[in-house]
Amino acid sequence: MIAIAIDGPAGAGKSTIAKHLARVLEYIYVDTGALYRAIGWYALSQGEKSDDEAAVTALLPRLQVELHYQNGEQRVLVSGEDVTEKIRTPEVSMAASQVSAMPAVRQHLFQLQRQMAQEHNVVMDGRDIGTVVLPQAQIKIFLTADAEDRARRRHEELLQRGEKVTYDEVLRDIRQRDDNDSHRAVAPLKQAPDALLVDTTGHTLEQSIQRLTAIVKERLEHVVL
Ligand code: C5P
Repeated sequence: MIAIAIDGPAGAGKSTIAKHLARVLEYIYVDTGALYRAIGWYALSQGEKSDDEAAVTALLPRLQVELHYQNGEQRVLVSGEDVTEKIRTPEVSMAASQVSAMPAVRQHLFQLQRQMAQEHNVVMDGRDIGTVVLPQAQIKIFLTADAEDRARRRHEELLQRGEKVTYDEVLRDIRQRDDNDSHRAVAPLKQAPDALLVDTTGHTLEQSIQRLTAIVKERLEHVVL
């Protein structure tokens, strides 16, 4: 099996680029952020505070997170309920960032991610794919951009989805999540030593897609199975 790991902070363009690569290569796209969002969403839906580690950990034994694919699109199910759209709000983004710092939550999702890569060729995006989940991935990319650039893209995305947020709120949230994700004790956001650093600041998503597709295709020619 071949695994392409794409890590980096929120809003760097990971999911759009990873989705495109998966389509071109006919691999499965695995959005691991959606798994943490699913747990954050579930904690909030149960009336728990998403930074309450004891309460969130206590929910895990009765919480089943599954990935399904419909026409090539990933769907996330929490104990049978499809939450794919519900997990895209700013509240759930912040809850995901908080629960993702909890070792029991990461442990709960680890096997599912590994299994996807054992059964399929994958393009997997997240924060710790190249470092922790799939250290053996044949291709690793660390995708980044300035916080302002990332906030601008994320803001446009949220407005298109009908969310009422200001650019300043999105920038503040992105900075907060960057800080949470980079400074947590378990599986912090960091570039794997063997990952290629790609900075998308000042580039359109279309330019970044083209650049990454060329890089990945070139590297795949040298992958020995
Ligand atoms: O990528 P996305 O913004 O959907 O991820 C939501 C949150 O899930 C991130 O802020 C991060 O805290 C967490 N996450 C993680 N490890 C991953 C993917 C996401 O901790 N592999």
